[in-house]
Amino acid sequence: TRTLSNKIAFVQGGSRGIGAAIVRRLAAEGATVAFTYVTSPAPAQALVTEIEAAGGRALAIQADSSDAVALKQAISIAAETFGGLDILVNNAGVLAMGPIDQFSLEDLDRTLAVNVRSVFVATQEAVRYMKEGGRVVTIGSTNADRMPFAGGAAYAMSKSAIVGLTKGLSRDLGPRGITVNNVQPGPVDTDMNPADSDFADSLKGLMSLPRYGKVEEIASFVAYLAGPEAGYITGASLMIDGGFSA
Ligand code: NDP
Repeated sequence: TRTLSNKIAFVQGGSRGIGAAIVRRLAAEGATVAFTYVTSPAPAQALVTEIEAAGGRALAIQADSSDAVALKQAISIAAETFGGLDILVNNAGVLAMGPIDQFSLEDLDRTLAVNVRSVFVATQEAVRYMKEGGRVVTIGSTNADRMPFAGGAAYAMSKSAIVGLTKGLSRDLGPRGITVNNVQPGPVDTDMNPADSDFADSLKGLMSLPRYGKVEEIASFVAYLAGPEAGYITGASLMIDGGFSA
């Protein structure tokens, strides 16, 4: 059975990696899915074509999540095109690494704008369209809890901010029957963190399960949280990290 029939979803950052797997899975569950991209028009369009070929509905919109006006506009285009909004997934994220004495303010500002500010902005706009049963799911990181190597301070800070934002938003939106949750993956094989990099072996040494996660494993968890059976989970930061934080 398809759990998201008649639902409309918006995914920030859906052209590649975890976001593309989420778009695919939500569409496979019957949702109509709008998603954004910045640098990947061809993969974004190919994903729309793939979903439409399978009988689904999808829309790709170019919008940089660090631009609040563009992001809000993308959400309102999606909601007006499809007639509402039930699910918001905040997946867009950037990883800038570097030692504290060399880390630029530009990288700090970009990290906070894409990884944190966009979640606030998108939620603010999306809930204008959501009814009872609405869902907000953000992709945080296990690095909110554990940052076991140097150079990741800004990234860890950005993902820790999502923990508090998720708690607070759940209080604002609970009375309206909207849940807000934070999914915290461990290492997942994507362009951001390829499983065949030199870095990968040292990460595997930190985990209970010494392997990278698959994008489909994260997407499955997001689909569950976005679905009708997860209505009592809110304000939560949930690890899906192969024991990275254990
Ligand atoms: P990728 O770099 O592989 O893909 C990033 C996706 O987000 C792309 O679709 C990209 O679009 C989009 N995106 C990036 N910046 C923006 C922006 N400013 N506005 C709109 N869209 C944007 O990353 P992952 O799939 O690995 O990561 C997705 C999320 O998961 C991030 O929040 C990341 O922090 C988090 N995460 C990843 C982990 C991992 O090991 N991979 C572990 C824990 C968390 P475009 O294609 O157009 O560039």
